[in-house]
Amino acid sequence: MTKILIIYTGGTIGMVNNPHTGALIPFDFEQIQQNVPELARLNYDLDVYSFNPILDSSNMDPQIWAKIAGLINERYEIYDGFVILHGSDTMAYTASALSFMLKNLGKPVVLTGSQLPIGEIRTDAKENLITALEIAATKNNGQAMVPEVCIYFDYQLFRGNRSIKYNSEKFEAFRSPNYPKLAEAGVNLSFFNNYISQQPVSALRLETNFNTNISVLKLYPGISENAVKAITRSSAEAIVMETFGSGNTTTAAWFTDSLQEAVDAGKLIVDISQCQGGSVELGKYETSKKLQQMGIVSGFDMTFEATVTKMMYLLGQGLTYKEVSSLMEQSLRGELTA
Ligand code: ASP
Repeated sequence: MTKILIIYTGGTIGMVNNPHTGALIPFDFEQIQQNVPELARLNYDLDVYSFNPILDSSNMDPQIWAKIAGLINERYEIYDGFVILHGSDTMAYTASALSFMLKNLGKPVVLTGSQLPIGEIRTDAKENLITALEIAATKNNGQAMVPEVCIYFDYQLFRGNRSIKYNSEKFEAFRSPNYPKLAEAGVNLSFFNNYISQQPVSALRLETNFNTNISVLKLYPGISENAVKAITRSSAEAIVMETFGSGNTTTAAWFTDSLQEAVDAGKLIVDISQCQGGSVELGKYETSKKLQQMGIVSGFDMTFEATVTKMMYLLGQGLTYKEVSSLMEQSLRGELTA
C-alpha cells in the first residue's frame, strides 16, 4: 500500500476561532481528520507528524525548515511521498527553502493549505488536501510522478521554487509567473511531464545550513541616499536588490558609487526584478550596463522567495564568493531560466 507522511505545521487549514479574541489560531490535526472523513476512504497508509507548537506560517524560520527537511530525510525510505500542511503566507518561501535543502530529491514533497479553515462549509481545504495526497501517491513506471518540492492549491500544481502567493483572498492564492504548471486537477489529474523534474541519479542529500546574514534593497523613484547606504553599508554579506523592469536602476552617481563600495567590500549583490513576470537582462539598457560591469549578479527570472532562500543556502555552504556568485546565476533546482 502507498505510504504517505502528512507533516502538519499549521496554517489556516487547521485553524479555529479563538473564543476570546475571535482571531484565527492554529489547532490540532484531529479536527482536520474529523472534518475530512474521506481520508479514511483513501487507499493509502497515512501517517501524521504534527508540529508542536502548530504555527501560523508568518512565524516560519530556517530552523523550522531544517526540521521539516530533516524529518523527510530521516523517513525518506519509509514513505512514497510527503504532504506538508502549511499556512499559505510563507508557503512559497518554505517550498523554495526545502528545494535547496533536499538535494537529489526523488519523491514528491507537496505543500498545501487553504484560504478557509477546514471546518467552514465553503472551505477549499478538503479538495486541496485530498488532491495533494493523490499527487504525492502518483507513480509512473514504479517511480514518483513528481519528484520535486511543489505547491498544490486550487486545482493547480506548481514547482515550489517558482511559486508566489499572489492573492490573499481568492482560492487561487498561488501563481507561477515564469514557469508552467506541473499538473492540473479536473475530472482527471493531468501531469505535464515536459515540465516536471527528472528522477535524480544520486542519493538524497540533506543540506540545512543557512546563513541569514543577508539584506534586501527595494528600489523606488526618490529613494534616498541614506536609505540605500543603510543597506549597502550594513553588515549583511549579500543583498537582494529588487530593481525596475529587466533589472534597471537609477544611474545617479551616488547610487552606483554606493553599490560599487559594497561590491568592493566583498558583498554579493543579486539583481532581481520587481516585475513578477519576465527576466533580468543586465546590459540590455544603459541603466543596467554599469551594474554588469561592477560585478552585480543576475537573478534572471527568480522569484523573490527563491532568491532569498537560495542566497541563504549558498552562503551557508562554506563556498567562496566566486562560487556563490556563479551558482546564484545557475539553475540548481529548476528555480531559474538563464
Ligand atoms: N496566516 C495564515 C498562515 O500563513 C494564512 C494561511 O494559512 O492561508 O499561516
